[in-house]
Amino acid sequence: MDTAETERARSRLVDHLRERGHLYSTRVTKAMETVPRHEFVPDAVRDRAYEDEPLAIGHEQVVTAPHLVAQMTELLELRPGLTVLEVGTGSGYHAAVLAEIVGPENVFTIERFPDLAKAARDALVRTGYGDVSVVVADGSQGLPRHPPFDRINVTAASRDVPPPLLDQLAEDGRMVIPLGRRDGPHELFLVTKLDGRVERWRYGGVRFVPLVGEHGFADEE
Ligand code: SAM
Repeated sequence: MDTAETERARSRLVDHLRERGHLYSTRVTKAMETVPRHEFVPDAVRDRAYEDEPLAIGHEQVVTAPHLVAQMTELLELRPGLTVLEVGTGSGYHAAVLAEIVGPENVFTIERFPDLAKAARDALVRTGYGDVSVVVADGSQGLPRHPPFDRINVTAASRDVPPPLLDQLAEDGRMVIPLGRRDGPHELFLVTKLDGRVERWRYGGVRFVPLVGEHGFADEE
């Protein structure tokens, strides 16, 4: 439930992200003002939901820190109606932010842990984003039977861009993905596809959990 207190805390967090330059567009700002992050995190960490830090959600996984959610979402340059694939649902919070901008029916998100996917799906339904498709699968393979995605948001670090994700990125598409060694350091990349030409742009050092799967790292490397 959203209360005056959670609304105030969220608004303070958004102000902080704007002052630091992580948030700058009206669309992403409004989405982060709207989505109740406290609804997506476990009870044990709920009182820290509006601090700018990653929070544990089980299976040694985390919900991404808000400044990175802001940065990645800004880089995707979303607008209503674009289709978005997210690899790494985790808590479902970032999927809700994407859904707030493009429309829930246009968001597909993949998680490898079934219980995280279930908790995320429940939170998405509770907060009004129930039309987001949450799929339990190896997201390093993308969703091959789906038409290409306008945007791809990868929230776990990979050694290189998984080839299926590049194939499934539409012409004029944008993908955000952290790359590096399994345990870091990682660097955030924007990958663009224009006239069949793929380009990569660096956006600085970050820290993510590993992408584990056929085109990612081995389960217990
Ligand atoms: N976007 C999430 C959120 O808003 O809470 C944060 C995601 S967390 C940093 C990364 C997630 O990627 C973890 O939940 C992890 O289980 C998942 N993951 C790692 N490898 C995966 C794969 N091959 N397919 C699907 N999910 C994967």
